[in-house]
Amino acid sequence: MPVDAVALSLHGAMIADGYDTAEGDLLRNIRAVVGPNVPIGAELDPHAHLDDEKLAHSDILVFFKEYPHSDVYERAVEMIDMTLRMTRGEIKPIKSVNDLHTLGNFHTTREPVRSFVARMKAAEEEEKVLSVSFIHSFPWGDSSSLGAKILVITDDAKERGDSLCAALAEELLAIRGQAQVKFLSPIAALERALAVNGAPVILADAADNAGGGAASDSTFVLKAMLELNVENACLGPLYDPGAVTLCHSAGAGAHLKLRIGGKFSAASGDPLDVDVEVLNCTHNLLMLNVFGGPDSVALGPAAAIRVGGVDVVLTSKRQQALGDLFNGVGVDWRTKKIVVVKSAQHFHAVFGPSAAEVLYIDTPGSVTNDWTTLKYVRRPQGLWPLDDNSASSPSSAGLQF
Ligand SMILES: [Zn+2]
Repeated sequence: MPVDAVALSLHGAMIADGYDTAEGDLLRNIRAVVGPNVPIGAELDPHAHLDDEKLAHSDILVFFKEYPHSDVYERAVEMIDMTLRMTRGEIKPIKSVNDLHTLGNFHTTREPVRSFVARMKAAEEEEKVLSVSFIHSFPWGDSSSLGAKILVITDDAKERGDSLCAALAEELLAIRGQAQVKFLSPIAALERALAVNGAPVILADAADNAGGGAASDSTFVLKAMLELNVENACLGPLYDPGAVTLCHSAGAGAHLKLRIGGKFSAASGDPLDVDVEVLNCTHNLLMLNVFGGPDSVALGPAAAIRVGGVDVVLTSKRQQALGDLFNGVGVDWRTKKIVVVKSAQHFHAVFGPSAAEVLYIDTPGSVTNDWTTLKYVRRPQGLWPLDDNSASSPSSAGLQF
């Protein structure tokens, strides 16, 4: 101290015991330390809760525009650039916010959200518009600020920011229904995948996505695959350190009876008792990180096993399918008819371009997309599609920052 500026990399959906907005609390305390005149900028994930605390105790908030989040680096450059320009007195950032009263999944890999991202970038070309963000919100976080929002930051042009923000909010509301993902049951998804002419068909086990907090060891999809006698398929990552240890002891080529999955969560389903062949073992399975940069994500000791016609990758670290987790343990997923990944959407950056088709499955898991089954206590009322608010329009009311 003193510092010229603060630039932070946050997520934005953190809720801790007694703290409805952990990152809002962090920003408030940083403001108390650095004082009122030091610019505070932060980059965040669009699966965040945009609340009054975060808005009030920051100057610049920039959210990733892409889902999967392939633009972390670009948005960081923008945030740091704006923060430095503010430090030099070149700009005066002013925020405008609009509350969409909406929950949803907004994949930017396809229409209509693909065009909405282009629309946000086009709006940023306007002289006084510094940054436009669409906060998707995080439906599995029980926050009093739950719900999607639009954030526009202008260079001292509040009126223009408000009008642009309102216009973008209306556009998003017009497409929100069309934007939603069509989730299938495991059996329905597998039957549809088998009927696809071409391969591989990628099936996302979204409800067991460790990135959202799920156990990543649910057995609903694998059970359905075995019931249907699916051949030439693979599935992963299935978090089961105990089963990995047994596979390492038995070694590649061993045939044994093994109990896999269904251990770590009440939402994981039952474990499966199956006859397996150990295909391969590795002491540290690495998965390239879709978020960019040189770092791989470590899945720890891992094993590939064959269960019926399905090659299953068992791992010792809980992590979603951010990238190729199969080849590192000898499973060539590109030659498979069906590839099941435990991930909601980040898998798409690596697997999507090679896919004959991508299908999304919903099961009872921890991050199920049937939000009517979640026991919210703090969320606001009037949230589409949980509550009937079809008559309501977006508003900035209630946000005091
Ligand atoms: Zn996210």
